[in-house]
Amino acid sequence: METWLASRDHVRQRRGLVRAATPGDPVAPGAMLDLASNDYLGLSRDPRVTAAAVDAVQRYGSGARASRVVNGTLAVHAALEEQLCQLTGVESALAFSSGYLANLGVLGALGGPGTLLILDAHVHASLLDAARLSRSPVVMVPHGDVGQVATALNTRSQPRAVVVVESLYSVLGDGANLTELAALCAYYDAWLLVDEAHGIGVAGAGRGAVHAAGLAGAGHVVLSVTLSKALGAQGGAVLGSRALREHLVNTARPFIFGTALAPAAAAAAAMAAQIIADEPALAGQLQENAATLARLCGIERSPGAVQSIPMPSADHAVKAAATLRAAGVLVGCFRPPSVPDGVSRLRVTARADLTLQELDYAAGLLRPMAREHRADPSEHNGSGR
Ligand code: PMP
Repeated sequence: METWLASRDHVRQRRGLVRAATPGDPVAPGAMLDLASNDYLGLSRDPRVTAAAVDAVQRYGSGARASRVVNGTLAVHAALEEQLCQLTGVESALAFSSGYLANLGVLGALGGPGTLLILDAHVHASLLDAARLSRSPVVMVPHGDVGQVATALNTRSQPRAVVVVESLYSVLGDGANLTELAALCAYYDAWLLVDEAHGIGVAGAGRGAVHAAGLAGAGHVVLSVTLSKALGAQGGAVLGSRALREHLVNTARPFIFGTALAPAAAAAAAMAAQIIADEPALAGQLQENAATLARLCGIERSPGAVQSIPMPSADHAVKAAATLRAAGVLVGCFRPPSVPDGVSRLRVTARADLTLQELDYAAGLLRPMAREHRADPSEHNGSGR
């Protein structure tokens, strides 16, 4: 059995799905210039956020001890949900133990054999898994193709439909056309589920892309968020109308059958949400740093924190990431099967707490790589996912 496991790990390492464990791995945080993680606003180490987590542990203990529907619902969950509503402008919120589970929960609750799910081809793995688990008929449309969404809605035979997109996409860093999609969904009587994992705290002065598009009050627009990126904590949530929340409480299986979100994570995320709402300059600083990073690297700027540098092959991407690592800079190295378009790339993430010197240092290394390795965008270098 152990031999079989070792051989499987070897294959996975070769395909780049896991890193081989080497002595001294992982690199101590802080020792490297981190352009790979998702702490977009630097809030995971903000003293107000960490103090809120410590206080919640002392008050409630280290775990929630039960499912929300048994006796795991704590005041800190209600406070978090209230803060998320205030931040996004959406009527109601329900917290989950992760963004992944929030997506499983919402699509499980809205989907089923009578609901057509229309997924953008670049949506996150959690949404793909959620669609599969929901036992719904599924149509995948080419990335960003609003016309194909309209055709799928118009020609559907199912009474219900959900269009599933991300507000800002996680690998390429581009955004969805929320205004057009919401109008289409209203016309064809469908839900629009927007995964704001990379939009919350980033777009719309931190309130998210749905808020920025003026769609926060729209009854047919549903948001899912993670608390683990700009909010610097852990967990997830679904936001929508009160009726939707009620439906989720009664039908979302990860919510009903999983232990409630840990109190420390809930309190930290609630504090982070309050800070983001009170201090829009934080999201402004992130946007400024992302623009500076893209400009200094000589690449096209993506609207969010994630900036994407295409590489001509998976090998180039791995070598470039290793060179950067040796020079003290950590970047995301994405290659098939975890790139939706089959193009290997470095994913460079800006944060609000990066200094101009740090941006300058990283860009000094990245700029020649972006220039030298500029990939032909028509040339796919892998199989995609
Ligand atoms: N949706 C998207 C778009 C994501 O990028 C992620 C995290 N990578 C998730 C959902 C899952 O969130 P979590 O890490 O909180 O499970």
